[in-house]
Amino acid sequence: MSESRYNAVIIGSGLGGLVSAYILSKNGMKVAVFEKHSVPGGCLQSFSRGGVRFETGMHYIGSMGEGEALYRYFKYLGIVDNLPLSKMDEDAYELISFNGERYRYATGHERFIDTLSPQFPGNVGDIREYVSMCAHVTETSPMYSFGPHDNIALLNPDHVLKSVSEVIDGITANPRLRNVLTGISPLYGGVKDVTPLYIHALIWDFYNKGAYRIVGGSDRIAALLCDRIRSFGGEIFTGSEVLSIETRDYVAGAVNVKGMGRVECDWIISDIHPQLVLDLVEPHVFRKVYKDRIRSLRQTTSNFSVYIKFKPGRVPYLNSNFYHYRGDVWGCSDYTAEDWPKSFLYMHQCSGKDQRFATHAIIFAYMNWADVEQWADTTVGHRGEAYREFKERCREKLLARLESEFPGTLDAIEDSWTSTPLTYRDYTGTIEGSMYGIVHDKARLSQTTVSQRTKVRNLFLAGQNINSHGILGVTIGAILACSELLGFDYLVTQIKKQSE
Ligand SMILES: Cc1cc2nc3c(=O)[nH]c(=O)nc-3n(C[C@H](O)[C@H](O)[C@H](O)COP(=O)(O)OP(=O)(O)OC[C@H]3O[C@@H](n4cnc5c(N)ncnc54)[C@H](O)[C@@H]3O)c2cc1C
Repeated sequence: MSESRYNAVIIGSGLGGLVSAYILSKNGMKVAVFEKHSVPGGCLQSFSRGGVRFETGMHYIGSMGEGEALYRYFKYLGIVDNLPLSKMDEDAYELISFNGERYRYATGHERFIDTLSPQFPGNVGDIREYVSMCAHVTETSPMYSFGPHDNIALLNPDHVLKSVSEVIDGITANPRLRNVLTGISPLYGGVKDVTPLYIHALIWDFYNKGAYRIVGGSDRIAALLCDRIRSFGGEIFTGSEVLSIETRDYVAGAVNVKGMGRVECDWIISDIHPQLVLDLVEPHVFRKVYKDRIRSLRQTTSNFSVYIKFKPGRVPYLNSNFYHYRGDVWGCSDYTAEDWPKSFLYMHQCSGKDQRFATHAIIFAYMNWADVEQWADTTVGHRGEAYREFKERCREKLLARLESEFPGTLDAIEDSWTSTPLTYRDYTGTIEGSMYGIVHDKARLSQTTVSQRTKVRNLFLAGQNINSHGILGVTIGAILACSELLGFDYLVTQIKKQSE
């Protein structure tokens, strides 16, 4: 290690950790990122099987048109010009399927309305109201719309105190339209009557502005951010788990890193789950009530995935995400062994622009931690025969569903691999393999929201459990964490100026 004292230490190299490291190193701080895995990126990681690269937890992004929100953040981060993107089908970036009927989400507000309206001729006004509602949520959220940031109250109470399901049910009485409009809920692990409206609306609007796959895989984002951090003198240490945080009088002075020992610092930003942070400090530091609250937070569900490699030239490239439901959208994570999977999400991976045939794909279905808990004490590659058989049964069921929607696909598969909630737990460090971190509950908002501030005055939290998940939510969460060190007005003004 070249230094043993840093201005800022970042725990975890997920998106939130890397964005934090970039901001602080750009602003003159000596920064070190410690990542316990052998590669940086957390959910941004990609991995190779059978000669193809699969993404782990970032499959498409939105709002990358010039001047749009993610474009501006990525411009500030210095990665906008080097990130190869492939725009998804503007007439159908999402395909929502219910037993044979397919519905298309088209890019842009008017096009979205025009595309869905022929299938819901009696509900055109409802679709229009839905679109206006989602757009309004973005427009009135300054960090998402680059609006005036003089009011730091980031989200409008109307958008956080109502659930997605109650608002959409209030907009339309048509049960099929309700399902079609909530069809993207696997993007946030939505829970009926619980998930606040803003999460759905911001995600819908984010992708509706334009959806893009990352050519070659999402680890490109991590690699570009790492390069930028290093260009400002920041250092990134992989295979370096933070084992503890030393504090005195509620001020952190150092972290202890596996294989490296004690590293002193002035500030810490943690990008890991807040439950894991509790285990890094002495038990007396946080009050019991805070620890109980953090430990009792419910996690969003996990998934079972099949990673598919196709035989060459067999499967036409699908430039849309395909969401399939056998029944209602809500309740798909509430299943039995017999009726699993109630839904799935199928995505082709992009290996080049203007692709004609798919080389590889991912298919996900919700899977709860309880299904794999019996193997919780095992490690990767040593989980035993029963686990292998369980995965095999799940693979067969999921691929059979895929075959019924896309006949001939099974025959075009060259090879496939699987992952379970245990895999996510062990590769991305999430509690119970949760996909998107904690479940926010509109009825218990203060209890299910975690602040970036902690009782330790120089320890701040970033990552998908703070603010919100996903490429935009985590980027904004990291900005909020860094603003605690640099000043909110100073940082937001810098971002606005440097992203024009
Ligand atoms: C299956 C799946 C699909 C998704 N698809 C999309 C998508 O298409 N678009 C989108 O916008 N979002 C998507 N997301 C969500 C998005 O990937 C996440 O919200 C985001 O990447 C999480 O970033 P993070 O900063 O919270 O860190 P994480 O990615 O959770 O990374 C945390 C890092 O901390 C490390 N760590 C943990 N403990 C320690 C320690 N003690 N010391 C050092 N390091 C430690 C971990 O190894 C990990 O690398 C998806 C998520 C999943 C799971």
